Amino acid sequence: MVCIPDIVSTVTITAPSSGPIIGNSLLGDVPFVIATGGEINEPGGGGPLNSSTPCPPTGQQLRMDPTVVKALQKAWRDSKPGTRAGVRHEEGGWLYAKNGKIIVARGKPGGSETIDLSNPPKIGGALLVADFHTHPGFIAQGYSPFVDPHDIALNMARGVPGLVIAEGMQIYAYGPDRRGSYPDLALDPTSPLVGGYPGKSANSVGCH
Ligand SMILES: [Zn+2]
Repeated sequence: MVCIPDIVSTVTITAPSSGPIIGNSLLGDVPFVIATGGEINEPGGGGPLNSSTPCPPTGQQLRMDPTVVKALQKAWRDSKPGTRAGVRHEEGGWLYAKNGKIIVARGKPGGSETIDLSNPPKIGGALLVADFHTHPGFIAQGYSPFVDPHDIALNMARGVPGLVIAEGMQIYAYGPDRRGSYPDLALDPTSPLVGGYPGKSANSVGCH
């Protein structure tokens, strides 16, 4: 398990146009703490390994959750989908589980076909369970909206599921089923690719 400090005040992630989005005084319409339905409760998606190690929610559970969907749709709109390259740009961030709730944190905006989601912010007492980003180009623009092999390889290495929202506001889940579900396919946390994610240090193979 990755060590998660209790310090929240060091979080400095900002959103492109709506100011700081972490904290309870955000200006956008993505709440800092989103209370979700029971299917995302910890332990989620099956029985816990034991009473002290709850199972993280799966990417499929997260992509179906209405409040996660709302946060991704906000990121989608912020990425100016369908506009020309250089205006449209990827947006993204991270999903955390804490006390049966999902916390959404947004990262800095990316480029037309790229975003850097390394070094996810540490949020006290919360477990990083997924990351997400937008694919804002349309098929008619010659842009593939679908999850690509690079996306999959990165999330497999990092050890948490990824979510992509793309044309039609379709949401795709990819990578490991849930945080730690394929530790043998993840990389060592010291790998540059892992970039602050748990990598193979997370293990939830007992979760079903
Ligand atoms: Zn992508």
